[in-house]
Amino acid sequence: MITPAIIDRDYVLYKKYQRKQQLLERYPFQLYLKAQGNCFHSGKLSPGCETCFYRPYNKDKVKTNTVSVHTGQVCNVACGYCYYDPYREDSGEVYHNIIYPYLQQLYEISLDPLYDIDIVFYNSRGETLKYLWVIKEASDIIKRMQTNYGKRIYSILYTNFMLANDAVLDFLKECEVHEFRVHWSASHFSDKVMDNIHKAVEKGFTVSIEEPSLPECGIPLINKLDILEEAKVKHLNMIECQVTKDNVKYLKETYGQTHYMYRDTLWHLYDNGLVYDIMEEVLQQNKSFSIIDCNSNVENARSDAHMYIPEFQDPLQSKGLSREYPTDLNVDFYEWNKT
Ligand code: SF4
Repeated sequence: MITPAIIDRDYVLYKKYQRKQQLLERYPFQLYLKAQGNCFHSGKLSPGCETCFYRPYNKDKVKTNTVSVHTGQVCNVACGYCYYDPYREDSGEVYHNIIYPYLQQLYEISLDPLYDIDIVFYNSRGETLKYLWVIKEASDIIKRMQTNYGKRIYSILYTNFMLANDAVLDFLKECEVHEFRVHWSASHFSDKVMDNIHKAVEKGFTVSIEEPSLPECGIPLINKLDILEEAKVKHLNMIECQVTKDNVKYLKETYGQTHYMYRDTLWHLYDNGLVYDIMEEVLQQNKSFSIIDCNSNVENARSDAHMYIPEFQDPLQSKGLSREYPTDLNVDFYEWNKT
């Protein structure tokens, strides 16, 4: 077999509920839980997480509208587990077919008085900070939208933060970026990137750490929680690594003996509960930042299981675990001033 062995997503879901249940018993009131149980976490979450919480079940409750700006394809590092095509490049075709259409869509939205936007995500298939001109162009449009709508739009940028020197941070301040989602392990947890994080916090940005829940990224973090606290990081988002044709060989060779893959909305490598190990440390050490199992919405994929598997049995109930969660949203998000 060319892939890691496959396990059933219901097993993964069961393990996640089991760990969540244990944490709740050990740290009552500390864990905030989403209705229908997806995305277990503790602490106040980033406003940018809000739509994911509502989207699958409570569309009518969605309070935030989002739009993405894809800035480019190329990265300045090459992580073994990267799930993008290692030969991707910024050809003229990419500009024509991907980058410009995103900017065009944003521009069209900006002209539509009925279209309301709350959050903008700057992302890429590489390193977003290599593409400052795209950020500049998009942010100019966003500034005009803010004037037209009379409200503030929250901007989040995904990055490995290696290029975030003083001048770049000042530029991004001008572009009104609010939050960085930093993939710190891409630089092997470099001190330089941590320096950049300190500078960003000093300049008033919100910094979140967003990491694949793989041993090489997550285990070192367990010993760096004090560093995150000292840096005033607000959120730690852990996400199981997506498995694609571009990283399957690496994942099989590196983790094939110990880890399994499963399918939820996409194929992921089950982290064997690593995110809950980190969550437990965060709770035990009473850290101030939030932590989330961003993948725990395997629920999302299985909620309609009974429709195509007539004999579908709830794996939680059959194992004596409760599925009773509040029906209203029970999550705290950091508020930002929208006007
Ligand atoms: S930093 Fe992100 S985009 Fe760049 S190689 Fe690593 S995983 Fe891929």
